[in-house]
Amino acid sequence: MTAADSKIWRIIDLIKWGEDYFKSHNIPNARRELEWFLGNILDLKRIDLYLQFEQPLSQAELDTFRSFVLRRIKGEPFQHIIGIAPFYGRDFKVTESVLVPRPETELIIEILKKNGRVGSVLEIGTGSGCIAVTVLLENLADRVIATDVSKSALAIARENAERHKVSQISFRHHDFLQDDISSTFDAVLSNPPYIGVSELSGLQPEVRDHDPRQALTDGADGLTFYRQFARRRALLNEGGCMLLEIGGEHQVPALEKIFQTAGLNLTIHNDLQGIPRVAEIR
Ligand code: SAM
Ligand code: GLN
Repeated sequence: MTAADSKIWRIIDLIKWGEDYFKSHNIPNARRELEWFLGNILDLKRIDLYLQFEQPLSQAELDTFRSFVLRRIKGEPFQHIIGIAPFYGRDFKVTESVLVPRPETELIIEILKKNGRVGSVLEIGTGSGCIAVTVLLENLADRVIATDVSKSALAIARENAERHKVSQISFRHHDFLQDDISSTFDAVLSNPPYIGVSELSGLQPEVRDHDPRQALTDGADGLTFYRQFARRRALLNEGGCMLLEIGGEHQVPALEKIFQTAGLNLTIHNDLQGIPRVAEIR
């Protein structure tokens, strides 16, 4: 697809062309990402792309498509390009101020669902707000307090709460490592920054160069937030639990030590790929 090309490009042509092009650049899920791009540019749902697959794109639409494709092959995640990321089947606004929601984080929602509805939830480090908003949309709690140390992340989280019309969330600017919290909760949820600072260089460029550094790493060994959660057991009401996302097998021995030394019970839940992903603390 060159600039001088006066050929008419239909939706179906672009999907076919783009799939080969993305695959030659080692981009997995090529077709799905192209559907996101075209859906976003043409304001069409995925199914409508295929119902209207012979619709030609205007020159302006083609220019946008071309710029999206170029950004993608330079390593920008598709979610940042279209400004939207899916989480638990719903769309959330994302910018460079928030971590792109990850499918494995949905396990926190699944466990909460299995454990049964609760009254109050505290979420530490809400980012885009995807966990807090989903908890309410899935009717898993009466009310949620969601915090973040990043004011620009909180602004996006508030927009996502409005977008999904949930009002039972209160967002607080708060530093979990410094500031106190006086209330108690039935459940404390968090996907904290758990990547050790020495592991940052080994991350995929999509993650390392586009997610906020403050969302990825604690600047130390990746365990700082878990130590703080172990000290903050008084946040839990009688019978309450913490559900904390973790980085995988390599963290499990250290987590056992941290929580068992604090006299707490730890259960590890694996994600769909069989990787230890959520620590349930009681
Ligand atoms: N909950 C979102 C999700 O699962 O997609 C975002 C999780 S992201 C891994 C971690 C979040 O913790 C970031 O939004 C970051 O700004 C926030 N954070 C980092 N340090 C923090 C601190 N000291 N206190 C509160 N939040 C913090
Ligand atoms: N799960 C994210 C990743 O793999 C990291 C998010 C985090 O540190 N909590 O990059």
